[in-house]
Amino acid sequence: MEYSLNSNKVAACALKLLDDRGVKVEQIAELTHFLQQQYFPELTIEQCIESVESVLVKREVHNAIITGIQLDILAEKRLLLPELQDMIVHDEGLYGCDEVLALSIVNVYGSIGFTNYGYIDKMKPGILERLNDKSTGETHTFLDDIVGAIAAAASSRIAHRKQAEMESHSPTS
Ligand code: MG
Repeated sequence: MEYSLNSNKVAACALKLLDDRGVKVEQIAELTHFLQQQYFPELTIEQCIESVESVLVKREVHNAIITGIQLDILAEKRLLLPELQDMIVHDEGLYGCDEVLALSIVNVYGSIGFTNYGYIDKMKPGILERLNDKSTGETHTFLDDIVGAIAAAASSRIAHRKQAEMESHSPTS
């Protein structure tokens, strides 16, 4: 039989790691709000929090969080192979595996997530600015992409729902 770790344990571990690394659900929700407010000006921060929480129940999201933060922590402790160590600590542009891992989160709500993710990665608002601050001595090479990806996925979820709402209210459907 295939080995499978208890999903509740994986979920609890992922949420604790986010908290330990100083990332709050509200901060991710602010990024989601930043992404969607131009399309839905009436969107509240509470709706964004609800959407982020829905993304944070998915197993593929837990897996990405645990894998990425573990690598960030090992890099801070200088426990990685020297070549990987250098690339992760310096957040080297050509490395790219941090972004690829984050795409497994963006994927959860379909392709519009990619546009949101690319945009927020470029703008780096809110908590993303702190996670990208190289002067802190902390390493968040994976976490910044993971946080951006969770916000983008939550944002896509809102867009899909709003679309479905509009269609159900239109006289032709
Ligand atoms: Mg990164």
